[in-house]
Amino acid sequence: METVGRYQPPVADIAFALDRLADLPGLSKRPDFADLDRETIQSLLVEFGRFVAEVLSPLDAVGDAEGSHHDPVSGEVRTPTGWRQAYAKYVDAGWGSVPFPSEHGGGGFPWLVAIAMQEMMTSANMAFSLCPMLTQGAIDMLLHHGSEEQQARYLTKMVSGEWTGTMNLTEPQAGSDVGALTTKAVPAGDGTWRITGQKIFITYGEHDLTDNIVHLVLARVPDAPAGTRGISCFIVPKYVVGDDGSLGERNQVRCLSIEHKLGIHASPTCVLEFDGATGYLIGEVNAGMRYMFTMMNGARLSVGLQGLSIGEAAYQQAYRYAIERRQGRPLGAQPGAAIVEHPDVRRMLLTMRSLNEAMRGLCYLNAEAVDLAKHGEDQAERAAQQELADLLTPITKSWCTDMGSEVASLALQVHGGMGYIEETGVAQRYRDVRISAIYEGTNGIQALDLVGRKLGIRDGSAVGDLLTRVESLDARLAAAGEPLATIREGLKEAVTGLRSSTHWMLETLATDGRRALAGASPYLRQWGTVLGGWLLAQQALAALPGAASDEYPAAKVSTARFYCEHLLPQAAGFGRAAVAGDATLYEPSEAALASR
Ligand SMILES: Cc1cc2nc3c(=O)[nH]c(=O)nc-3n(C[C@H](O)[C@H](O)[C@H](O)COP(=O)(O)OP(=O)(O)OC[C@H]3O[C@@H](n4cnc5c(N)ncnc54)[C@H](O)[C@@H]3O)c2cc1C
Repeated sequence: METVGRYQPPVADIAFALDRLADLPGLSKRPDFADLDRETIQSLLVEFGRFVAEVLSPLDAVGDAEGSHHDPVSGEVRTPTGWRQAYAKYVDAGWGSVPFPSEHGGGGFPWLVAIAMQEMMTSANMAFSLCPMLTQGAIDMLLHHGSEEQQARYLTKMVSGEWTGTMNLTEPQAGSDVGALTTKAVPAGDGTWRITGQKIFITYGEHDLTDNIVHLVLARVPDAPAGTRGISCFIVPKYVVGDDGSLGERNQVRCLSIEHKLGIHASPTCVLEFDGATGYLIGEVNAGMRYMFTMMNGARLSVGLQGLSIGEAAYQQAYRYAIERRQGRPLGAQPGAAIVEHPDVRRMLLTMRSLNEAMRGLCYLNAEAVDLAKHGEDQAERAAQQELADLLTPITKSWCTDMGSEVASLALQVHGGMGYIEETGVAQRYRDVRISAIYEGTNGIQALDLVGRKLGIRDGSAVGDLLTRVESLDARLAAAGEPLATIREGLKEAVTGLRSSTHWMLETLATDGRRALAGASPYLRQWGTVLGGWLLAQQALAALPGAASDEYPAAKVSTARFYCEHLLPQAAGFGRAAVAGDATLYEPSEAALASR
């Protein structure tokens, strides 16, 4: 039974979510996107889907089996067979340039379109997708904070994909606690800086896909304040770039080794040594953490999207297996029916499918808010959308990556013993997706961000506005009547619970931070679960017979109903855990935690 490597881009599902859960038609009418029409965007997505399915997807298993290789003598890294050619095709077609401004060679499309493209690329080959994803993040950071001179020197080649970008935060003693980093930057006297220190876990820190790599590196200048307030950000190119754009001398940055990992084997995770490397300061000294947040916020949305991407690829494999594998006689089915007829297997498949649709809705809504924060009509709209993006980002990152792991695990379960055997390829999905809950700020850190930083936006009014928006769908659900009655009931109960735990969080945070933070992770999970129900309720409304979108299949209504009847009730449990407090976390002494 051949189930490996046949990812099919779900073009219709993607179009549905772009148009009905986000508002791509509305977005593409905005003045900044006036030259784009919906048909152009759709043909771009279909063409890109073909590229990832034909070129990147077949290399996914190759990359997993071969991995990337490091030469300890030269410090160079070789990517797996076929990757250089695939990357060259990616560059030739200009796929990486789609969402960037035309003055730097970009296509001027909304970020939302780039996110739909990233979804497909990551489903096809997550290890490959990390390189373009980080490059796009680095471009975004330079667009926001780089000087005109820096933009002119680096952006065109990065936008085209001829050079790639990296993000250098982590050091052995500075993981979640970025403020503990010790890499040093000292002035060289000619306007440049000398960067010295060691970074670990740097994705695509060294590779053979391009002739230059633009590292964005966090470091401390002499006498910088302690913690995150004393961090500056530097451009450190692998090869120094001359005024005419030509490549000059090899910079003093070297890859010491690459890691052996659970998944994404082909993505080189590098230990980089900077030994007096030439660096160029971005913006002001000691403001680097703020700049890096531009890159991290974009990257957090992209990492959340990885949960969806792997979930989608895993679902496709599980479904194909379930309609072929025969075991037992499912109740009420003909003899010889496949396992897809067993109620428990259907439960697993629908759990996967509805979670994927909910994740897609959330990622696209988040991307649309990022677009409108930049391209909104007036300052008020831009500010409101920035608030929404800020609020959604930790939820998207954390909830979608947790759900992506759950979906991949269910895909493995649908395969029975064959899921645990590497040849079906589904085990790779399970291994690959696991990192997404860890990097770009662990999911625990995302929950702290949601409760500690985001709830406080406008003294809780931003979160209140989002809750009101979720509640306001009730009138439309009521008007839809019986077909959506269970969705309405489930959502009403779930949002009432969320309002109540939000109230508790805001009150408790003001008086006893530790008590509030003890419930941050289940609280974030409650948010994700409720937003998933809200988005799927909108999906059901859009897909109801007689709705404007008659052509959409009735399956969209039934997945929404499944979610609201079978998964949304979990929100109440997360809500109770969110307000349980910290007493039982600290009652056992450390000695009691140790195993005996
Ligand atoms: C494959 C891979 C690729 C990566 N790519 C990059 C990259 O390109 N660039 C880069 O700079 N880094 C990269 N990283 C590093 C990654 O971002 C860090 O691993 C991650 O931020 C966690 O840091 P840590 O590993 O030191 O874990 P720790 O910070 O030691 O965390 C351990 C545990 O403690 C918890 N914890 C820590 N602090 C707190 C807190 N304040 N409150 C509550 N809980 C806490 C964490 O949630 C976690 O569960 C990569 C890592 C991997 C494995």
